Amino acid sequence: MVIAGAGPAGALLSIYLARQGHDVTVYESRQDLRRHDVDAGRSINLALATRGIIPLIDVGVIDRVDAITIPMRGRLVHALDDPEPVLQPYGRQAHEVIHSVSRSDLNAILLDAAVATGRVTIEFSREIERVNFDDSTVRFANGDAASFSTIFGADGAGSKVREAMVAEGACDAHTEWLDHSYKELTLSATETGDHRLDPNALHIWPRGEFMLIALANPEGDFTMTLFAPTTTFESLSSEGDIDAFFESEFADLAKLGSDAAQQFSDNPTGRLGTLRAEGWHLDDRAVLVGDSAHAIVPFHGQGMNAAMESVRCLDRHMTQTPSDLAEAFANYAEERKPDGDAIADMALDNYIEMRSGVVDPDYLAKRTLALELEARHPAHISPRYNMVMFSTMPYGEAQSRASEQAEIIARSIADPALDIDSLVAALPPLPPVDPLTDRQALSSS
Ligand SMILES: Cc1cc2nc3c(=O)[nH]c(=O)nc-3n(C[C@H](O)[C@H](O)[C@H](O)COP(=O)(O)OP(=O)(O)OC[C@H]3O[C@@H](n4cnc5c(N)ncnc54)[C@H](O)[C@@H]3O)c2cc1C
Repeated sequence: MVIAGAGPAGALLSIYLARQGHDVTVYESRQDLRRHDVDAGRSINLALATRGIIPLIDVGVIDRVDAITIPMRGRLVHALDDPEPVLQPYGRQAHEVIHSVSRSDLNAILLDAAVATGRVTIEFSREIERVNFDDSTVRFANGDAASFSTIFGADGAGSKVREAMVAEGACDAHTEWLDHSYKELTLSATETGDHRLDPNALHIWPRGEFMLIALANPEGDFTMTLFAPTTTFESLSSEGDIDAFFESEFADLAKLGSDAAQQFSDNPTGRLGTLRAEGWHLDDRAVLVGDSAHAIVPFHGQGMNAAMESVRCLDRHMTQTPSDLAEAFANYAEERKPDGDAIADMALDNYIEMRSGVVDPDYLAKRTLALELEARHPAHISPRYNMVMFSTMPYGEAQSRASEQAEIIARSIADPALDIDSLVAALPPLPPVDPLTDRQALSSS
């Protein structure tokens, strides 16, 4: 069995396949990130939540991951007109915490665990240029070739496996590009190696049409990401424009000693898009998993979490029908595709919530009411953010529950005489939690 890509999805999948008893070869276009700096000297982090944590517990690497994460208990909102940032906690329960983790350190842990199975061979600097289903071979950029019986496309949003499946007529895919882009910046540690802001929160500077966020790294620095209309990036072409932009929008950062304005010119600008792919497998010869099947915009902090949850779902189906891979892949795609669509839409919605909702009195009133209702009816209602981040209920269910809840809350705000408690108590009970959720609270939280 061959896996294309040793990112979070490919590395995790190789562990699951080894556990099923398969011998696996993983081809990764980049160098081994355990030995080479693949992030151009920058520390890039992301938010790890329940759907990613559960598979990490499942494959036995959670203790190593735990040692490198920083818990974030809520959003710390830096409003433009308020000098004091305000904390909006994510929830009341101990496990309702997200975790900042270095993307490459997490990936390294998964690569180590894959190799430790004794069944996984990872070949780095092996860029797949073409997948050929006529003779079941992959051709590499250097002209070499290798054969496969089944190939797993874990090669990200620009997947070559998917490209070949499209050519076979098994998959139909297009990317909806957003007219907003992003740029990663660093807020360095103090001279004594400390964080310049509270490390245990996800910082947001909401500015209506755009926003800056910051997640702490264990080394004392923060990875910040500016999300803005692409036209804003294009308009900031001179040093003077960039300085003026940061001074007027993020004056508190300059006070902290940030040189973000200088980094702005040096660091690349990335595009953001949603991949809509129909047809995730080609009989028993190929299947897509992770970003290659459902790349989404990053505003819910779920792309990698969803990728890892998809891997676990694929493993479950392969384990259920081990002698019929085509059936397993079809069942996986049937179960998971609607969830991929749901999280793609919720991630787009969450951009508006983060860049403007978090300082909008109407949004805040609804969020406060949702949390109060959750305290009164914990078996029947949970805010959408919490269902997405802190549960394993299918994304599609979280989306439909959230819209029903939003309607009840909007009606109650419009008509305070409404008996909202009866309406909430009549909602179907929340599904049982994954048994692994009980063990999920990382010790650092
Ligand atoms: C700005 C930003 C912030 C994000 N923040 C979060 C967050 O907070 N939380 C979260 O859960 N997700 C986040 N994400 C999303 C997350 O990064 C992705 O969803 C996740 O990396 C997907 O994992 P993957 O393994 O499917 O794909 P990838 O991470 O893209 O891995 C694919 C691998 O395949 C390799 N590869 C590609 N092409 C080839 C080829 N032709 N031959 C061989 N190898 C190949 C690549 O080198 C790579 O190693 C964010 C994304 C962005 C852009």
